[in-house]
Amino acid sequence: MFDITLVGCGGMMPLPNRYLSALLLRFEGRMVLVDCGEGTQVSLKEIGWGYKTIDAICLTHFHADHVTGLPGLLLSIAHSGRTEPLTIYGPAGVAHIVRSLCVVAPEVPFRLDFVEIPPDGTNSIKIPITNFILSAHPARHNTPCFAYRFDVERKGKFDHATAQQLGIPLNFWNKLQKGNAVEHEGKIYTPDMVMGEARKGLSVSFCTDYRPPKGLPNFIRGSDLFVCEGQYGDNAQIAKARKHKHMTFAEAAQLAKDGNVGELWLTHFSPSLPNPRDYAKNAKNIFPQTKIGRCGLTTSLNFDDM
Ligand SMILES: [Zn+2]
Ligand SMILES: [Zn+2]
Repeated sequence: MFDITLVGCGGMMPLPNRYLSALLLRFEGRMVLVDCGEGTQVSLKEIGWGYKTIDAICLTHFHADHVTGLPGLLLSIAHSGRTEPLTIYGPAGVAHIVRSLCVVAPEVPFRLDFVEIPPDGTNSIKIPITNFILSAHPARHNTPCFAYRFDVERKGKFDHATAQQLGIPLNFWNKLQKGNAVEHEGKIYTPDMVMGEARKGLSVSFCTDYRPPKGLPNFIRGSDLFVCEGQYGDNAQIAKARKHKHMTFAEAAQLAKDGNVGELWLTHFSPSLPNPRDYAKNAKNIFPQTKIGRCGLTTSLNFDDM
């Protein structure tokens, strides 16, 4: 099961009952956090999934509302007893930004690894420890910024009949299912001999702080869940959205429709937007499977035919 929770849904500054926009993903007990604004650790505490198995943090960009929660969060992860390395992904300069922010939290009992995303984005980075495959797409904000996509792949079915026909002993089946070749009585057996075609996996995309980027519908295509900023609810605020490199609800909904995603969650609401639900119809008219984000909004995705 692939669990997703919206850690916060605010942009610019945290408000009472509205933490800053961030997303937490969990698969087979391992977690990835996307963005970490001020107070993210408080919201994570309320969500209650713990800190110890956060294996990676993906930063969309380096504006304060997306990164200033890092020192406190890293200390909370330290207090949870983590000793395994933690990887932080982000635009060029990510190591410098994080190390500068964290001079107030200089000693954590785990190694921090940094991965700079190339300016043109990237495909298919396996996030260590987890089973998440990360892709990144560049966006038009007023600083380098990325949309992220997280895929969980699903192998094909194990073909018991073929394995029996080939005479592969039962105690080798598990190794083959895990992708390893085995040798028996001088013969080598490889996974492709007994595994069916890869099946449909699960995917979540997260995009915030920019104008609708070219190519984004292709990048998010077929995502089961698309979490996208909706800084402004009112269609009349399009000029403001353009000026500040943000999006309206309607623009986010159009991306969801063009990308043929399963569901859209809106997030990163302007502090000037006290009741985002008032404008829900502006998105739902274009993409009916839209939810207005709120702190703690959670869903679980399952593989087909389970
Ligand atoms: Zn922001
Ligand atoms: Zn920003």
